[in-house]
Amino acid sequence: MTHPLAPYAVSVSHSKGRQYQEPSPGYRTEFQRDRDRIIHCTAFRRLEYKTQVFVNHEGDLFRTRLTHSIEVAQISRAIARALKLNEDVTEAIALAHDLGHTPFGHAGQDALNESMSPFGGFEHNLQSLRVVDHLEEKYAEFDGLNLTFETREGILKHCSAKNAQQLGELGLRFTHNTQPSLEAQLTNLSDEIAYNNHDIDDGLRAGLITTEQLSQVRLFQAQFEQVTKLYPKLSSKRIAHEVVRRMINCLASDLIKTSLVNITNAAPETIDNIRQHKQTLINFSDPIKELNLELKQFLRQNMYRHYRVYRMTKKAKKIVQGLFNVFIDDIQLMPTEHNHKAQQAEAEYGHHGRARMVCDYIAGMTDRYAINEYNKLFDPIELT
Ligand code: MG
Repeated sequence: MTHPLAPYAVSVSHSKGRQYQEPSPGYRTEFQRDRDRIIHCTAFRRLEYKTQVFVNHEGDLFRTRLTHSIEVAQISRAIARALKLNEDVTEAIALAHDLGHTPFGHAGQDALNESMSPFGGFEHNLQSLRVVDHLEEKYAEFDGLNLTFETREGILKHCSAKNAQQLGELGLRFTHNTQPSLEAQLTNLSDEIAYNNHDIDDGLRAGLITTEQLSQVRLFQAQFEQVTKLYPKLSSKRIAHEVVRRMINCLASDLIKTSLVNITNAAPETIDNIRQHKQTLINFSDPIKELNLELKQFLRQNMYRHYRVYRMTKKAKKIVQGLFNVFIDDIQLMPTEHNHKAQQAEAEYGHHGRARMVCDYIAGMTDRYAINEYNKLFDPIELT
C-alpha cells in the first residue's frame, strides 16, 4: 500500500482475521492474498461464461460477469484511493461479488429461487459467500478460500434476516442494523455504476436501444450533447464510448465528493465508528441519485423488458427449472460427485439438504454448460 490510509479504513492491523489461522502472507497484504485466492478459484474462471443480460454465445463483444467484475474492481479501486481507503480489500470484494451468480443472469437466479422456495430459497449474494466459504475445494486444510472477515463482509451485500442468523458475526449487521466498512459500501455502489453504464453500451451495440430513446435520460443526454458538440463528425461507436466514459466519471466523481462531505461531517475515528453509524456514508448526492434512478428505470423498461431479452429470459427459466425438476426427482442423473454430495446431504439434513446440493450444482453452471446439460437430458437425439 503506497498511499496512507484513513484511520477508519479497513486495515490489516484491525482485521477480524480468517476462520482458520494461517501464517502471514509475507510479501503481500492479507487482502492481496484474498484477491489472489479469488482470482485462482474455479468460480472466478466460470464468470467468463456467465452473463447478466445477454447470453454468452450471443456475441463476443458483450460484457460477461468476468469483464463486469473487472470493471467494478477498476471503478471501486479508483474511488477507494481517492478516499484514502483500502484498495486491496476493495479489489478483492469487487472480484468476488458475483461469484455466486447462476447461469443466465437475473432470469436464472429468479428461476432457481422459485424452485428452491420450499427449501429456503436462493439468494445470489449469499451464494457468493457460500462459494468462498464452502464450495471451493482446493486447499488441504479447509473448504472454501478462508478469506478475511472484511472481504466476506463486503461480498455479502444483502441478506434476509432469517439467513443472517445462521452467519454468526458476519450476519449481525442485518439484524442489528449496523453498516459494513466504507470499502464494502463503495464497492456496492461501484457495481451499480458499472452495470448501468455497460448495459447502455451493450444495449446500443446490440440495437436494443437507440441514442434517440436515451435522450429522455438526463444523465445520458447531458454528456451526449457535450460530446456531439465537441466532436460533430465522430462515429456513433466512438460517441457511445465517449458518452459512457463521461457518465461513469460523473457518477464516480459525485460519489467521491458527496462521500467526503459525509465522512467529514460524521468525523469517524475508527472503523467501529463506521460500522456503528446509523447510515451508510458512501452515497451519491440527492440530484445524482435522482438521475441515476431515472437511468435505471429507463433500462428496466426499454432494455430488460425488450422482447429479445424477454425471449431469452423465458428460455433461461425453462432450462433452469427443467434441470432442477429432473435432478431433484432423481439425483442419480447428476454427475457422480454431485450425486454423492446430494446423498450425504440428504442423510444429514433430509430433503432440504438434497435440494441445496442440486441448487449448488445448477448455480455453478455456466450458460453453455446449462444449455448442454438440458439438451443431454431432454433431447432424445443427444446421446451423451
Ligand atoms: Mg455485479
